Order: sequence, then C-alpha cells, then structure tokens
Amino acid sequence: MSRPSSGRSRFARPCRFLPATVLVLAAGTPAWLGAQAAGSSLAREIDRRAALLETKAVAWRRDIHQNPELSNREVRTSRLVVDHLRALGIEVRSGVAKTGVVGVLRGGRPGPVVALRADMDALPVAEEVDVPFRSKVRSTYNGQEVGVMHACGHDAHVAILMSVAELLAGMRAQLPGTVKFIFQPAEEGPPPGEEGGAALMIKEGVLENPKVDAVFGLHVFPYEVGSIHYRPGPIMASSDRFEIIVRGRQTHGALPWNGVDPVVVASQIVLGLQTITSRQVDLIESPAVVSVGRMNAGVRYNIVPDSTVLEGTIRTFNEAMRASIHQRIKRTAESIAASAGATAEARIFPYVPVTMNDPALTERMAPTLRRVAGDKVAIAKQTTTAEDFSLYEQKVPGLFFFLGIAPKGSDPSKVAPNHSPRFFVDEGALVPGIRAIANLAVDFLQAGPLVRAQ
Ligand SMILES: [Zn+2]
Ligand SMILES: [Zn+2]
Repeated sequence: MSRPSSGRSRFARPCRFLPATVLVLAAGTPAWLGAQAAGSSLAREIDRRAALLETKAVAWRRDIHQNPELSNREVRTSRLVVDHLRALGIEVRSGVAKTGVVGVLRGGRPGPVVALRADMDALPVAEEVDVPFRSKVRSTYNGQEVGVMHACGHDAHVAILMSVAELLAGMRAQLPGTVKFIFQPAEEGPPPGEEGGAALMIKEGVLENPKVDAVFGLHVFPYEVGSIHYRPGPIMASSDRFEIIVRGRQTHGALPWNGVDPVVVASQIVLGLQTITSRQVDLIESPAVVSVGRMNAGVRYNIVPDSTVLEGTIRTFNEAMRASIHQRIKRTAESIAASAGATAEARIFPYVPVTMNDPALTERMAPTLRRVAGDKVAIAKQTTTAEDFSLYEQKVPGLFFFLGIAPKGSDPSKVAPNHSPRFFVDEGALVPGIRAIANLAVDFLQAGPLVRAQ
C-alpha cells in the first residue's frame, strides 16, 4: 500500500530565508490552508469533543446492530435518528425516499453547504459473530425467511454520523456555513419493484434547498482499525446487471440436428463475453469485469430446450468503457447466436455509476485526512464493489473513503469481508471516523466552495 506523497510543498514551500509564517502571508495563501495542515483551534475542539462522544457512539452502534432493518424498511433506525437530530435542535425532514432523514444545521457564520451521508440498511444475512449485541432479527426477503444483520457496517456509519451531528451542533455558533446530514435508506438496493437509495433521495431533492456544494461519506472496510484509505478519481466500480435470453428450437437430445441448441449457444456466449474484457478493452487504462452468475436452461437431461437465460454483472472504473462494454455484450451475444441460427436478446439494467472522487476536492481535503489519521493514511486500492454514493458525486463534487475496522491485532487480509456473516467492526474505529467526517466538514466550510475553471 503506497503512502501518498506529502502535500506540504503544494501549500507552503520551505524557504531558507524567510520564516514559514512570513512566506505564507507573502504568498497570499488563505489562512485556512495553514490551519488545515497544522490543525486550527476548531480542529482541536472537534478532536476533544469526538473523544468525549465515544461511549455514546458505541451505544448507538450496538443498539442499531442488534436491531438491523432491511433496505427500505429502516423504520426504527430512522426514528432513532429523527429523535436525536430534533433533540439537538437540528431542522429535520423525515420520510425522504421512504425512511430517509435529512437534517440541516445552520452555522452561526455565513458560508457554503456541505453534505455528510450515512447509509442505514442491513442485509439478509444470519449473524455468526459471538457478541452480546448479536442480531437475532429475522425477516422475509424475496419470499424467503432470512436472518438480518448489519454485515456491511452501516450501523457504524449511522452511529458515526449521529455523533458528528451532536459534535457540530455543539459548535454551531462557530460554524462558517451549513451542514446537511443525509441518513439514506436502501444503499444495498431496494427490494424488486421498489424505488429507493441515493437515486430516490436525489429525486426527492436532498441536494437542493439549501443547495449542496460538496458531499463526504465513508465506508468501513477490513483495513487496519482506524486507518483511512482515500483515492482521487475512481475508487469503486460501476455496477450493472445484464440478462441474455437465447432462443433456439427444442429437439430430442439424441437428434440435435433437428433443432437449434440454445445451451451450446449460451455456452459460447459465456466464453465470448470473457473476450470483451481480455481482448477488446484497454485494461491498462482501467480494469473491468464481466461475470455470468446465472445460467438457466431445460428440465430433463435428454431434451434440448427452446431457450436459455444468462444473467450477470458488469464492473468498470470508466464511464466510456462502461458504455462500450454494454454495446459489446449485445453485439457478442447477438452475433454468436446468429452464427448458430439462434437469436439472443441482451438487456442491460444500469444500476450505479463509478464512484468518482472529485480530484480537486480530494487534493484539497487530503491534508485534513492526513492530519486526522497521521501515519495511518494511505491511497486506497480500487475495489470492484460499488456504492450508490456515486450518484451524489455525479451531481456535486464528492469524496468517499474507507475507514479500517479490522480487529486490533488481526491480519486485515484474513478477516471476514463486508457481507460475510462473520463481518466484525472494531469499535476503535468510531472516534477516528467521527474525527474524519467532522474535520472534513469544518475544513471544507472554512475554505469555501470549489471554484471551477470555465
Ligand atoms: Zn454492502
Ligand atoms: Zn455498504
């Protein structure tokens, strides 16, 4: 894991002849830049308050962990958040995108608007972690009875953002701008047939009124506990589903020449699709994955069926490559089918775009993350998993990063990953998470909105 190069030279080049402070003033560098690197009085106040909030953050996290709720069903979690924000005197809108909550904290001084986002939903996973606050909740998902667990750590995200809300509400008079708290449902995807998640939050105006200038979010991940991993540009993949229906002509398995075998054609298509990523797109420019996860055909060993259905997922880190792969999947499926006298109908269901951290915003905020995490900060590896945070980042500049939660003393490469029934959050990460989000918010407000070159 490579450490980012020091940003120092970008902000205050050391000079042999002048004291650094004189140089900064002479160069006309805004006061917030020096404060960002060194830690202003506001930053020290944030860190002091964050440490005091640890007990509450742990209690909220355990309470939410023990009472997980599936996507678009986050009723109890939503109520917990609403009650908390109201008690802090924060303006609250509830019932946004079904169970979502938006809080607006107006600071005592004028300034820009920063949004902070936490997702609230759990997964249909039966918990296998032996802790006193283990989830025993059961529910139905896709018509099946399932266990429910915060196996992606969204319980920690909610506890961190509730803590940040309390922290910043206590410093309201000193805040130079407005903080919008976004507690989002259904990040894991709404149930079939329902809308939800970031897409619906945006549709219902979460980025407007007041208009958001930048958005920050984090995800817990099995890195060293308390470490921060960020990356400018693409950090998580786009994710799209595809379905291909291959239609041939039914025949007896002993007499294949009397029909058109869609099982053989579909098998050729599975292999053909792999040549898109291995032979047709520039993997030096950006990685990409096409995987077929489902292949359904036939009912009996000696009857060639009429049709075969393939279903799979597409992951990319580049929107142009994403569009190109969509086209190539259709072309590959249709052409291979035609070569055998069959037909193929390929449909792509776009889900979420690339999680694309704004390079200028990331560069600006990197000193804050380095100050918060010290030597526990690194450039993140790209991951082919996806996040609907990407939809906010399509609308406003955003920065999404990973917070390490691997149990202290463990080998992070060997611990259970997100979505596992053994996924475990080391609560030692909560205070670093609170400090990271609160400091990003305040440093952004102090610096003002990004000015874009026209
Ligand atoms: Zn997840
Ligand atoms: Zn997640």
